[in-house]
Amino acid sequence: MKIFCIGRNYKAHAEELGNAVPTRPIIFMKPGTALVSDQRPYYIPDWTQDLHYEVELVVKIKKKGKSIHPRFVKDYYDSIGLGIDFTARDIQSQCKAKGHPWELAKSFDNSALISDSWMSMEEFVEGGSRFQLIRNGDIVQSSTPDLMIFSIDEILVYISQYFTLQIGDLIYTGTPQGVGQIVSGDNLIGSINDNEVFNLSVK
Ligand code: ZN
Repeated sequence: MKIFCIGRNYKAHAEELGNAVPTRPIIFMKPGTALVSDQRPYYIPDWTQDLHYEVELVVKIKKKGKSIHPRFVKDYYDSIGLGIDFTARDIQSQCKAKGHPWELAKSFDNSALISDSWMSMEEFVEGGSRFQLIRNGDIVQSSTPDLMIFSIDEILVYISQYFTLQIGDLIYTGTPQGVGQIVSGDNLIGSINDNEVFNLSVK
């Protein structure tokens, strides 16, 4: 199982971190050991002083595919979930300044929260397609997928030129604006179309 993530896929988020808006999808990966659920408290690693949440729609691959033609791409996924791409922003800034890879900042153990509940694409679209992150009762991120720079279909077509997509692979499709730091004691609730899909306490 592979986990792909898309960087800077919302214009307002690229801008809030002072990054250029990309002309092709920015791809990075996380290992399976990054996955974590909300069933246990979340512990902030002791080597970062600036851990950020990034709420993201997550697509699950249901069919093996390589070099997928755009006409058939919708055959390769049918469910959507919600996750957090946890990012050690302090480490990432050091990596970016040196031109180094991002893995230490993005791919560590427990860096990929995933909801237990998955929604069909039909249900998602019919419900309004809004996803949100609520931190300690305040909505800090709220968006819809039409604001993505690269659509889910475009992302899958692009990735499959380079990597074989396999059943169960996950694709984190990028975060909208509003990212920020989490601290011990925080509560993070994710919702899709006003249905709560995860509820995480941070220790
Ligand atoms: Zn992200």
